[in-house]
Amino acid sequence: MSNHKIYVTRPFLPPLEELIPHLQQIWASGQLTNGGPYHQQLEAELARYLGVPHVALFANATIGLVTALQSLRITGEVITTPYSFVATAHSLLWNGIKPVFVDIDEKTLNLDPSKIEAAITPQTTAILPVHCYGHPCDVESIQKIADDYNLKVIYDAAHAFGVKTGTGSVLKHGDLSVLSFHATKVFNTFEGGAIVCPDAKTKERINHLKNFGFANETTVVATGINGKMSEFNAALGLLQLKYVEQAIERRQAIDQRYRELLNRCPGIQCVDGVAGETANYAYFPILVGSDFPISRDALYDLLASRGIHARRYFYPLISDFPMYKGLPSAQPHLLPVARRMASQILCLPIYPDLSDAEVETIAGIITQA
Ligand SMILES: *Cc1c(COP(=O)(O)O)cnc(C)c1O
Repeated sequence: MSNHKIYVTRPFLPPLEELIPHLQQIWASGQLTNGGPYHQQLEAELARYLGVPHVALFANATIGLVTALQSLRITGEVITTPYSFVATAHSLLWNGIKPVFVDIDEKTLNLDPSKIEAAITPQTTAILPVHCYGHPCDVESIQKIADDYNLKVIYDAAHAFGVKTGTGSVLKHGDLSVLSFHATKVFNTFEGGAIVCPDAKTKERINHLKNFGFANETTVVATGINGKMSEFNAALGLLQLKYVEQAIERRQAIDQRYRELLNRCPGIQCVDGVAGETANYAYFPILVGSDFPISRDALYDLLASRGIHARRYFYPLISDFPMYKGLPSAQPHLLPVARRMASQILCLPIYPDLSDAEVETIAGIITQA
């Protein structure tokens, strides 16, 4: 095996020489941001590639989430999952909204729809679920509850780039979906993100909100933020898009190889997707059970001692961080499934440049632990 360190992910980068002509074009035009030609082209190409009506690009997904909530005028309480990256809940606090944590389903590791209704109060205005690891939430059940109680649904779809189900893109569900194009994600623009919008009017409001609230040169219609993606990041996105299918195919082959090597390993369970899903293989999560010879943390340390940096996504739970743990819904006994998963989860390295030999080495360390 090569002697470089292996991380849970490594960004996929297009050939550098392909970037140069785009940089020359940006230099020549002098337009660096504010919805320039690269920004417009990437929005159009992403909408086409993803099979969604409209895409509004952002500087990152966190500002996208904050803006998505603001665009729908969400207030009061929002039901969300404790089993996610901390930005999911932070986007609520940034809007002065109270997060209400609800437990997850042990198969999908997504918000458990059967537990949502009990958490609804007169202050509840929306549900903020996450398609964890890119595996689709039970979107039908969530929508039914939202319709029954007149709630909005905003999906944190940071992991779900390109994911489809029988009915098409998973990003078309709910009122809005937010993607992340951070360096660690399947599709990256170094930093970046987007809101998937159902219609042009919604997108127009979001465009105002990501540009300080400007509706035109002299009119400010809301307390908007600066969430714009620059021309440089948009150009990177256009290059990435050319290679993303190829990158996902390689991820799929790695996923399959891990499963072959780990499927019969006692105490290790590979987390499965949902039946009928077209996955993006963004992560390779395993659960380290109590019947495995060593603990999850001991396995994490063992891999690290061999230069392999797996990650405990998502441990600790968001509800355990200091700004959340005092909330009534953050009490540990209310979130038993999320707690168990957080104590057993380990995400193994998966990225296009990871070699078959490296996958075999990683699986070998685990099976011989
Ligand atoms: C990465 C991530 C985010 C934040 O994305 P940024 O683009 O880095 O702001 C939000 N939610 C989830 C679930 C993520 O994994």
